[in-house]
Amino acid sequence: MALVYVEVDGSELSDVSLEALTVGRGLDGPLEAVVVGSVPDAGVAQLREFGVATVRVAQAAFLDRYAAAGYAAAVVSALSSSGATVLVGPGSPRSTEVLAHVAARLDTAMAANVVEVQPVGVGSPVTVVRQVMGGSVRETMRVDGPVAVLVVAGHAVEAVPAASAGAGDVVTFAPEVSAADLRATMTRVQAAEGADTSRLAKARVVVGAGRGAGSPDGFGPCIELAGLLGGVLGVSRAVTAAGWRPHHEQVGQTGTKISPELYVPCGISGAIQHWAGCSSAQTILAVNTDDEAPMVTRARYAVIGDMHEVVPAVIEALRARS
Ligand SMILES: Cc1cc2nc3c(=O)[nH]c(=O)nc-3n(C[C@H](O)[C@H](O)[C@H](O)COP(=O)(O)OP(=O)(O)OC[C@H]3O[C@@H](n4cnc5c(N)ncnc54)[C@H](O)[C@@H]3O)c2cc1C
Repeated sequence: MALVYVEVDGSELSDVSLEALTVGRGLDGPLEAVVVGSVPDAGVAQLREFGVATVRVAQAAFLDRYAAAGYAAAVVSALSSSGATVLVGPGSPRSTEVLAHVAARLDTAMAANVVEVQPVGVGSPVTVVRQVMGGSVRETMRVDGPVAVLVVAGHAVEAVPAASAGAGDVVTFAPEVSAADLRATMTRVQAAEGADTSRLAKARVVVGAGRGAGSPDGFGPCIELAGLLGGVLGVSRAVTAAGWRPHHEQVGQTGTKISPELYVPCGISGAIQHWAGCSSAQTILAVNTDDEAPMVTRARYAVIGDMHEVVPAVIEALRARS
């Protein structure tokens, strides 16, 4: 049986939490979830939709502020109440931190970047498939321990509601947390100006621009095309490293991971670190002068040509149609 650690994002669960619930549901037995703090009504409805039978909500005033070890103590309490042998968490930096603390506390095994879990019998080791090297390689691992702790790779698994809804019974509990668990506590959150990457992460269409843009002035047509398609601009690290565009627009291993329906990388070679952030795109249409560029060979569609000619021509064609 699996317990899924979920995170709340505003009035709902985070997208990556829904992905983790989808993975957890594939395991044997009833599905349970644990939330630290409170869960909004819309979040409970999502948990039911994703097949959760029991929602364990850890509530205590000292958990109002994020503290990795304190959250881990709460998750460990939920684990022991549920009797789950597999703990699954979403692919977010905080979830990875909390679950690493859980694994250390329980002296058990943990695997991150998981994309598949094979159903298991009680007490058997868990077999998982996980992404490594930025998603270019998938490796199969055996995770053996009293509890298998798994972090799902973010935006690499489709979030699918359950065939039939779960009861979603909410059980609140007050976890026991020691002073040592609260030694590192978040005291203030401040967004860097203009650094909202959520639009890029959630965009249904992303038009990418790389070194092929040529200069800081070379991005106008890609921005315009993104606007016409109802999407946003994403760039490569060559672009941010040159200072042509801000880092929050960067796609890749050290940027934002995207999973749009359509990705149109223009003048981007498709280096492995860039691919790590865009391999979950449903359809890729590459524009590149080099027909052997990795992005071209991996894309479903490609236009071999100069982006400074191709993109304006596409814009003109779209305008003519509308
Ligand atoms: C630890 C580490 C982390 C990294 N993280 C990231 C990351 O998060 N994201 C990322 O993107 N990179 C990352 N990189 C860098 C990565 O290795 C590449 O260097 C980078 O992605 C290259 O960017 P690019 O494709 O824009 O440039 P290039 O590799 O120089 O490719 C330019 C492409 O544009 C094409 N081109 C040139 N002119 C035109 C034109 N006029 N029209 C059409 N096509 C044209 C070329 O044929 C070529 O394919 C990382 C590297 C390291 C070491």
